[in-house]
Amino acid sequence: AQGFELRDVYYRYDREQETYALQAVNLRIPSHRMTAVVGRSGAGKSTLIDVLIGLVQPERGQVLVDGKPLGAGEACELRRSVSYVSQDPFLFHESVRDNLAIAAPDASEAQMWEALRFAAADAFVKRLPEGLDTVLGDRGIRLSGGERQRIVLARAILRDPSVLVLDEATSALDGEREAGIQEALERLRGRMTLIVIAHRLSTIRGADQIIVLDNGAVVQQGGYAQLSEER
Ligand code: ADP
Ligand code: ADP
Repeated sequence: AQGFELRDVYYRYDREQETYALQAVNLRIPSHRMTAVVGRSGAGKSTLIDVLIGLVQPERGQVLVDGKPLGAGEACELRRSVSYVSQDPFLFHESVRDNLAIAAPDASEAQMWEALRFAAADAFVKRLPEGLDTVLGDRGIRLSGGERQRIVLARAILRDPSVLVLDEATSALDGEREAGIQEALERLRGRMTLIVIAHRLSTIRGADQIIVLDNGAVVQQGGYAQLSEER
């Protein structure tokens, strides 16, 4: 099966402690689909991502990627093909071009433009009628939180990753802008595996699968309709 699989995974940060950050976790994350991971703060969402991409090794259990156990060598290669967008978009105090070129030094301006449009940055593009070079090259540009978030998303897309992790990445956006990002994710789903960490239900409406974590354990797993029925 293409994608990730966790089999009976346990992880704790401190072996002296009784509490596990992840316990008895069994799940599948199919490739080229959108999987949402939901749960309150401390539920284990970030730890789950770290285990998936081999940043940390489970104490017990197995991580499989495309059916094969995730060893140290594979994890290194996997992490190169993962783009991660956090809830605090990090941009340097330089131009949009500089911020995009960090991820993809060889990208042409046309590719940068395309990635910006893809990241639902149309409004941003329209706001700046001066044209391509000014928008990409202006170092004094003032960006709103929403714009920054979309530039970070564009940067992640430019790397053409096989896995894109969005960690509460749309939390700074208002409803309309968030809808724009959702559209972008719909289009991206055919190209890469999407893992969306979310608190808000609106963010995950389009997800193929929702995994609900609580206290390090998977308490629910299924489609949107399935989960609403169970509740
Ligand atoms: P979430 O991402 O859902 O907020 P985390 O995966 O960050 O949850 O945390 C899961 C559990 O592991 C929590 O109890 C948290 O306190 C603990 N934890 C997370 N990171 C560390 C760390 N670096 N050292 C010790 N405990 C940690
Ligand atoms: P939004 O309108 O999307 O909610 P924010 O309120 O999050 O925007 O914007 C936060 C503030 O940070 C804004 O006043 C913005 O001008 C400023 N800002 C934008 N980009 C940068 C940057 N690259 N470095 C420092 N400050 C910035």
